[in-house]
Amino acid sequence: MARNFFIGGNWKMNGSVSTVKTLVDMLNGFSIPAGTEVVVAPPALYVDRVRQQLKKEYGVAAQNSYVKASGAYTGEISPEMLKDIDVDWVILGHSERREYFKESDEFVGQKTAYALNAGVSVIACIGEKLEERESNKTTEVVTRQLKAIADEIKDWSNVVVAYEPVWAIGTGKVATPEQAEEVHATLRKWLADNVSKDVADKTRIIYGGSVKGSNAAELAKKENIDGFLVGGASLQNDFLTICAARI
Ligand code: PEP
Repeated sequence: MARNFFIGGNWKMNGSVSTVKTLVDMLNGFSIPAGTEVVVAPPALYVDRVRQQLKKEYGVAAQNSYVKASGAYTGEISPEMLKDIDVDWVILGHSERREYFKESDEFVGQKTAYALNAGVSVIACIGEKLEERESNKTTEVVTRQLKAIADEIKDWSNVVVAYEPVWAIGTGKVATPEQAEEVHATLRKWLADNVSKDVADKTRIIYGGSVKGSNAAELAKKENIDGFLVGGASLQNDFLTICAARI
């Protein structure tokens, strides 16, 4: 089944007014290929500025959101606030949030459900650590993380699943196309068996972990790889090569 290709750019905690302008100019000068959707995720402070300056063909995402609309939750932002500034996406469950901010599978599931109910689409990240892969726990870990999301939501039409092996994030060690495809196929089968065949067919499952212009086209050829979540390379011109990986 044909699924639109999806490229996410996760800028993480990088940038300044000046470098954000450079990135926005770079993106505005690029024509997104037909059949590809591109969403960039600036740091929270710059999300509003990027949404106002970037062409509407691009989506903009926050890198996190909370499970309340407003209130005494210092430091948090709500999906309702994102909607208020026309930001339609949020990245949830990134491994850096799970690791450094101790976000549990359950909390990621709750945040996913809350954002979707508020009308914000979700890039939901899952992925195993190196020691989990080496002890053959990859399937157990990624299906546990996916189940925690499935337990909280009914409608998958605004969810993109990002498979991001933690050992490949920011390390330069990209998963081989075969390693990534194996996990993506497992995740799609899990969705077919535990949610529905329709959801399995339609949900984009994207790969993240040291994707670059030089390795994106090979990964993009795999049947179950529907795009990429890109960290480091999303801050460079190379991102445009990745956006064109499935031409
Ligand atoms: C990420 O942060 O989601 C990511 C995949 O980072 P990088 O591309 O730098 O490995």
